Amino acid sequence: MALVTTPALVLQTYRYSETSKVVRLATRDLGVQSAIAKGALRPRSRFGAGLELLSEGVAQLYFRETRELHTLGAFDLVTLRRELATDVSRFAAAAALAAVMLKMAPPAPLPAAYDTLTAALDALATASQDRVDPTALRALWLLLGVLGFEPSLATCVRDGTAVEPEGAAPVAFSVAEGGVLCRRCVPPAPAPPAQPPTQLPPQAYRDLVALNDPGAALPALDAPHAAAHRRLVARFVRHHLDEAGSLSALDFWERHAWVPPASPPPPPEPVPSAVS
Ligand SMILES: [Zn+2]
Repeated sequence: MALVTTPALVLQTYRYSETSKVVRLATRDLGVQSAIAKGALRPRSRFGAGLELLSEGVAQLYFRETRELHTLGAFDLVTLRRELATDVSRFAAAAALAAVMLKMAPPAPLPAAYDTLTAALDALATASQDRVDPTALRALWLLLGVLGFEPSLATCVRDGTAVEPEGAAPVAFSVAEGGVLCRRCVPPAPAPPAQPPTQLPPQAYRDLVALNDPGAALPALDAPHAAAHRRLVARFVRHHLDEAGSLSALDFWERHAWVPPASPPPPPEPVPSAVS
């Protein structure tokens, strides 16, 4: 058993007994790990109020290589990023990021993933209101990238042909294959149950490229375009998750910006009575 001190972020907590909690932590030095915080539910616990979703601190873990559940000795809170809790769109995005980290990161050191996640939370906490959606979208794509799921956007995911939007023609994006398809590779009409690739209009494609490029200006997305991008990245995550099961935090984030329909749906067609 080794005592490891590492920066850590709380991804999930649940009650373990009358007095203890289990926390799932993204740690900088050990990857995603689970630990029991004994006595965390007692009044005047030494953990205080630090062990909440998205709390960031320095964890002392009694780490056993052969165990899946370690023991949390201490958690010294560094930041709660309270701004995230004051706005549902920020909190939903942050919780979706935490869920992706929890499900897709390995239980092995991956400091770049930890740094990408905490930088994303900083960006979400400080983004102006009109930039919350594109900030969240960029954060998710960059986290997916560092976890090994970077989409291929400049070249065809099958044969490496350079892909550029031509005129008004859409660019095909295959969620299953993880990137864009060149003209030669777009299937004419895939046989069910294969999903046809998503057709990205040229501007949506350029926005997706910019979202994946931390050096590019953050695209301005109106509500319908932001919603379409949320659906795309959510489908991408669901497809590439190994285990079945839903990510409720991702589902919530995907749908959080409820936009009323532009016009009421047409009344149902009258059903002609059957003629016998
Ligand atoms: Zn191709």
